[in-house]
Amino acid sequence: MKVLKLSAQGLPQSWISLEQAVIHYAAEEVRWEMGLEVAVFHGGHNAVTGKQSIITVSSIIGTKGVPNINPFELKPGLTNGKLFARDRNICAYCGEPFDEPELTREHIIPFAQNGVDNWMNVVTACRPCNHRKSHRTPEQAHMPLLYTPYVPSLWEDFILRNRRILADQMEFLMAHVPKSSRLAA
Ligand SMILES: [Zn+2]
Repeated sequence: MKVLKLSAQGLPQSWISLEQAVIHYAAEEVRWEMGLEVAVFHGGHNAVTGKQSIITVSSIIGTKGVPNINPFELKPGLTNGKLFARDRNICAYCGEPFDEPELTREHIIPFAQNGVDNWMNVVTACRPCNHRKSHRTPEQAHMPLLYTPYVPSLWEDFILRNRRILADQMEFLMAHVPKSSRLAA
């Protein structure tokens, strides 16, 4: 499981490991916490008080410091895993659901016709459909798209890149995902 690290202002920064979260706690960089307690770490004993230090990690933490990303300039990176998650493992041409190994990144306007490799020109397709469409546009191939591509928002990108999101983390992220998103459907 991962901890959702936010800026002090509440913008998503990264998914971090429990160990990385502990380092933020130990450095007193955690400004606030949300969500459930996900782990407790026991540290050394204080030489003066004899008390043992305990760090309790929450599933969502806001950390101090200047964010290293500007979410309004950010374009989420394109990976097959995130693309298939955006399209819910459904082939854009035959409409059938597939397991990830059966799926491909399909370029709507093919490279051969100067298509580009970005979120707006790619959809998820099964191998037979991708093969059948070949180096043609959907119009040329008479294979209309069953859904349209879109660029995921920052919050949606955080959902797409983690397959094991805790319920409270999902609730936080989904609150910022537009209704037009396929994830909100
Ligand atoms: Zn298909």
